[in-house]
This record gives sequence, C-alpha cells and structure tokens, in this order.
Amino acid sequence: MSQITGVRFETAFLSKNPPHDKRTDELVHWCQRFDQLGLAPKSAGNLSFRTKRGFIITATGIELGAVEKANLVEVLGVEIEEGQILVYAKGRMVPSKESVLHSEIYDLRPQINAIFHTHDQLVVELADELKLPCTDGEQARGSYELVKEAQRMLRLMEDARYLVLRNHGVIAMGETMEVAGNLAEKMNRMARDFAQRKEGEK
Ligand SMILES: [Zn+2]
Repeated sequence: MSQITGVRFETAFLSKNPPHDKRTDELVHWCQRFDQLGLAPKSAGNLSFRTKRGFIITATGIELGAVEKANLVEVLGVEIEEGQILVYAKGRMVPSKESVLHSEIYDLRPQINAIFHTHDQLVVELADELKLPCTDGEQARGSYELVKEAQRMLRLMEDARYLVLRNHGVIAMGETMEVAGNLAEKMNRMARDFAQRKEGEK
C-alpha cells in the first residue's frame, strides 16, 4: 500500500502566478533546514502556512532543498464530492499530494497556522518506544484514508501538536512556522538522543 503515491485529486488553477506573500521566505527557510537535517529524503515532505484565503504549500514531486518562492502554490479551496477531489490553486506547480490533509487540519484547528510534514525516519521507527501519538494502521500516502485517520486522531487529542503517521512520517503543527519548525526539530533531537542511549546500553 505504501507504494501508492499518485496524486488523488484534480487541480484547477485559478491563476498561474506564484503566490505573493512575505512569509514565503520563512517557508523556504524551513524547507532548506529540513532538507539539511535529512528529514525529507528525495521529494518527501511538504510544508505549508495559512493565508487569508487558504494556505501556501510546497509543490508535489519537488525536493525540499529545491523549493523556492516561484514553485510554491497557494491552495484556495478543496472540494470533495462523490469520491472526487478538486483542489483550487494559484501557482505554476501542482500542490503537494498531501494538500487535502493540510486543508482538513486547518479546518479542524483554527488556531493552527503552520503544518510541517516531514519523513523523520527515526521518529517513525521509534514512535511506540517514545510513546508518541501515532496512527494505528498504515494508509497510502496522499490517500483520503490517511486524511480521515489523521482527522480522527486529532479529534481525539485536541491539544496534540505532533502526530506520527505509521511507517510514513510526522506532522508538526504550530500557531506559527517557528513553533511548528522548532517542534519538528525538537522531536528529531529527542529521537536521536534516545537512539544513542539505546545504542550505549547494548
Ligand atoms: Zn509523506
């Protein structure tokens, strides 16, 4: 199942101009940071922040290290009808395949303004040992099942700012990009420290 990585929605471009927002610099900074930390191998990971009309997110199929302002996309709406998903976008690229996941979290959590999804392999491996909130089963990446499962977990844990997606990655949420980014880094450090201690005990 984890091999299914196709985009599960159609994109309707309302404009082909990249989004204009001062905060895109900060988003690009975090993309580079996670790329350097190895939290987004290949083209994994997607980062977004909330705007007045929706959210600005990284494009699909692009490495975080290659993200620049010109290839960011603003998602202006998501329509879900009879199993069909339509994403309204402004930009040159197709938005991340996890755009629907970001959209649903912003809807569910009005206080959250930044969602950073990385593939922190160490945290994913150690999720149970670290007793981190984690989805039960593994859902296909970019699938609506994954969206539903994350939604279910977040409804159960109202204050949760960090969620592990089983055998996949993590979601760090924050009121600001700084909060979400620092949280993702903090959890990565914690997992590394834990792994080192475990190694030392052998
Ligand atoms: Zn992912």
